[in-house]
Amino acid sequence: MQREIVHKLEDMSIRLADSHAHIDLEDHFPDQAAVLRRAREAGVLLVINVATGLTDAAQVIATARTSPGIAAVIGVHPHGAGAMTDQDLAALDSLAADPKVVAIGEIGLDFYRRRSPEAVQQQWFRRQLEFAVAHKKVVVIHTREATPVTLSILREYRGQILGGVMHCFDGSPTEAHAFLDLGFYLSFSGPLTYPKAGLLREVAKKVPLDRILVETDCPYLSPQPWRGKRNEPAYVVATAQQLADIRGLTLDEVAAATWSNTLAVFGLEEAAVLAPEETANP
Ligand SMILES: [Zn+2]
Ligand SMILES: [Zn+2]
Repeated sequence: MQREIVHKLEDMSIRLADSHAHIDLEDHFPDQAAVLRRAREAGVLLVINVATGLTDAAQVIATARTSPGIAAVIGVHPHGAGAMTDQDLAALDSLAADPKVVAIGEIGLDFYRRRSPEAVQQQWFRRQLEFAVAHKKVVVIHTREATPVTLSILREYRGQILGGVMHCFDGSPTEAHAFLDLGFYLSFSGPLTYPKAGLLREVAKKVPLDRILVETDCPYLSPQPWRGKRNEPAYVVATAQQLADIRGLTLDEVAAATWSNTLAVFGLEEAAVLAPEETANP
């Protein structure tokens, strides 16, 4: 199946966007240059590279500066909220001014792993939402077993936040509607391809086509043909193909829609994304 998909891509010269990847996560991509080359060969010409905290934020920006078709998202993941300080927010402040930074994220709540206390997660989620508002950036939201609280906090900022992406969406139709109503895009990842994800496929079938994104969340959550292996941006094609299958569309149509949605939500110009590597900043 992997070969079939890759061949199909070569034939059709499709453009795909991976709306959420962690290619600078420590130790996971020692072969980053090869990973990015495979992504381009597979037609994945835009990768939104998301920092998990201050440890990788500067590197995520550096990668966006030196590699074509990569944009940076910086922020502190809810796992890191327990250790977050005012100094960290100040450090983010100087980084967020970089033109390669297109959003603040991933921020939100994770009550599944609960690596940081709930109240502390909520506090830093609010403060980073306010930070995004101050910087006029959209946000990338992470929520796990915390959707009702995530939604009620986002509603507090309705009219202030500029929207963004609910990444790795795996909620109910009601939750999908609530995020859409707040102006968010919904991004689907590898689990959409899993045999037991029937309910999620039902949801993905009905989300308006102009509000859907696809992502890998690599190195995690590999889609079905590569399940159990390290994930990488090239594999986003499997999730896009799944979306095409459940909606009765061609891969080409899903690629085109999710490509332009990714450009739209992150405020990117296609010409700039497709431009050859700029001469590296000193
Ligand atoms: Zn996440
Ligand atoms: Zn992520």
